[in-house]
Amino acid sequence: MLPQQLRSTSLQRLILRPSQKLVTVGIATPTTLNIRQHNPLSLRSLRSFRNFSIIPTKSYDFRSTSFLCKRLLATAPSNNNNNNNGFRTMAFYKFHDLNKDELPIFRQQLLQDLGKWGIVGRIYISTEGINAQLSCPEKHINSLRQYCHETLKPTVGELMDLNFGTEPEAGERAFRALHVRIRKQLVADGLDPASYDLKNRPSHLSPAKWHEKLSDYKQKHGKDPILIDMRNHYESEIGYFEGAIRPNVDTFRGSVKAMNEICKNVPKEQEIFMYCTGGIRCTKAGAILQSASKFQTVHLVEGGVTAYGRWIQDQKDKTSSLFRGKNFTFDKRLGEDITDEKLGKCHICGQACSRYQNCAHASCNLLMLCCSNCASQFLNTCGRMNCYDTVNDFKQKTSDNNYFKPDGPVMINGVRAFVKQGEQGEERIVIGKSGVKCEHQYNKRVRAIEVLGEPGDILKEWAKAGRELPPLNTTISTIPPS
Ligand SMILES: [Zn+2]
Ligand SMILES: [Zn+2]
Repeated sequence: MLPQQLRSTSLQRLILRPSQKLVTVGIATPTTLNIRQHNPLSLRSLRSFRNFSIIPTKSYDFRSTSFLCKRLLATAPSNNNNNNNGFRTMAFYKFHDLNKDELPIFRQQLLQDLGKWGIVGRIYISTEGINAQLSCPEKHINSLRQYCHETLKPTVGELMDLNFGTEPEAGERAFRALHVRIRKQLVADGLDPASYDLKNRPSHLSPAKWHEKLSDYKQKHGKDPILIDMRNHYESEIGYFEGAIRPNVDTFRGSVKAMNEICKNVPKEQEIFMYCTGGIRCTKAGAILQSASKFQTVHLVEGGVTAYGRWIQDQKDKTSSLFRGKNFTFDKRLGEDITDEKLGKCHICGQACSRYQNCAHASCNLLMLCCSNCASQFLNTCGRMNCYDTVNDFKQKTSDNNYFKPDGPVMINGVRAFVKQGEQGEERIVIGKSGVKCEHQYNKRVRAIEVLGEPGDILKEWAKAGRELPPLNTTISTIPPS
């Protein structure tokens, strides 16, 4: 019998009611519904979701509830109902002292309040404040804005304005689910928090002022400004402000170290310019530079590259953009164009490219630049033979079946696989981790160059092995341009 908390609309779908208290979750098989007990706490993050795909298998083995939750989240339908268009992507943050003991309640409040509007995304809260990246249904943007100004203000103070992405129109949601995570720090800096003062706030310039100051700097001062890109190497590889120093780092800790190194011999009265995606990293880095290293003025662009990108779009002369290329984003879009320039290289074929993807073999999952032609030809994998063969075998074996229906993973010869929706609604086959393992163990810091060599090298591997390259694929035909 179905518990009160869950209601089945069909055997394939359950509706989770966010307003109700969850104590159980159900698994539908074609003929039965099997309800398992679980720890209600681990289901908090599911509260905001209404629709879940049910994994239709009799032999599905549940190791834990969290495992189940992950599966449910992974298979939550993202595109197949009308409510999933009309989302706007945005961010906001605020450094503000919060009481550690109150964070769990705050988390719960955010999940409930934002979940009811169907908002998805990632929010971090810590004793340092709040940092949110969200996709909000366009029709609820005013409610969210009001919520930030009225409900959140007493807790975190006046937030920065909603920092919208550069897409001119509402589109697909950029996240699958709403997560609110309690973190030690909003951005991990590797420093002793007592060594700097976050209240020593750097100068926040409007995009217009930032543009003007940087444009005039050389003429005024007779030298180039010190301009530091506070993002990771894969972010600055596809887009950056002209003339910026772009440290070759993997983490914010690395950026802070590099920043200190760059500024070591610079006079304290010299202005320092820095930028990041939305401004949060520079707000902290600037405070560190001003309070710990005693620099007088650190400038950042309010709202980061995102806000600058939006501003430049509104200018008559878009070619005057001081930022070139693409702004990397931490959502499923993996970036938004600011200018048309492609500053990176496809890791498979070497052509100019700024399209990131993760290898479709989930146990590889390598983040890499990959042009749309290679993505199509190599089935969204990193191009290594093992990854390609795994995905291709799956595809061949299941070519007669409608393998992606119903939503959810299927087991094919011991390999768990499912089809994710690609960026523009195309199919994207992803082979699960519990299937055939990839020989390179996934780690998010592993760089494509370490695994694949220089762009183009991977094609040589195919030649060495005496193999013909995969045929140009036609199934996956709607990948957006690189
Ligand atoms: Zn390519
Ligand atoms: Zn791979």
